[in-house]
Amino acid sequence: MIFIGTVNLVRTRDEGSFVCPACGVSQGYRLRARRPWLTLYFIPTFPVGSFDYFVQCDHCHANWDPSVLEMDALNHTNAGEEQFCEEAVRAAVLVVLADEQITENEIMVLQRISEHMMKRPVERDELGWICSSAQQNRIEAVNYVLTVSRHWNQQQRARALQGMFLAATADGPLGELQMRILARMQELFEFTDAEYHAAIEQAVQWDSGA
Ligand SMILES: [Zn+2]
Repeated sequence: MIFIGTVNLVRTRDEGSFVCPACGVSQGYRLRARRPWLTLYFIPTFPVGSFDYFVQCDHCHANWDPSVLEMDALNHTNAGEEQFCEEAVRAAVLVVLADEQITENEIMVLQRISEHMMKRPVERDELGWICSSAQQNRIEAVNYVLTVSRHWNQQQRARALQGMFLAATADGPLGELQMRILARMQELFEFTDAEYHAAIEQAVQWDSGA
């Protein structure tokens, strides 16, 4: 019997210091590259996928999207619309993946969300790629949004929240985990209850009108 499997090998590619969004102060980080390898009898033999990069805080060990390194804590310039859409879709994917599974329903809803956001058809392949890279990097939805939303304006924040809400409710009422994530988003975006509810109400409308 031949034992075949895969293993993720992680290497440190760079080190330095950055302002960790979770710690709120300057910390050391390691830029890490993860790549899946095929194993034969538990020995890695050759790589079977491409590299995925993430930034790990030396202090709190949270994982961040590498874009965290490019952003200055005080830099509030607006992101381009296209970049925003991609980030908002990725945030919705991460909310779905919070329970570490993805259903057919959720895939359909994510596809609708991305088409609505990007205003163009989104192939399952493209969505599949976003999902697998998000899953491999194990960046939490809240950490990811904390990083990228620094250059979102108020209106973009509301739209991202709508996408995340629709993704979270794809399979019916919100679970406790997803409720907690959305509550953190409200806090992070500094939305009042009224602003939050207005955004959600709008989301339900654009979803049913799509
Ligand atoms: Zn940290």
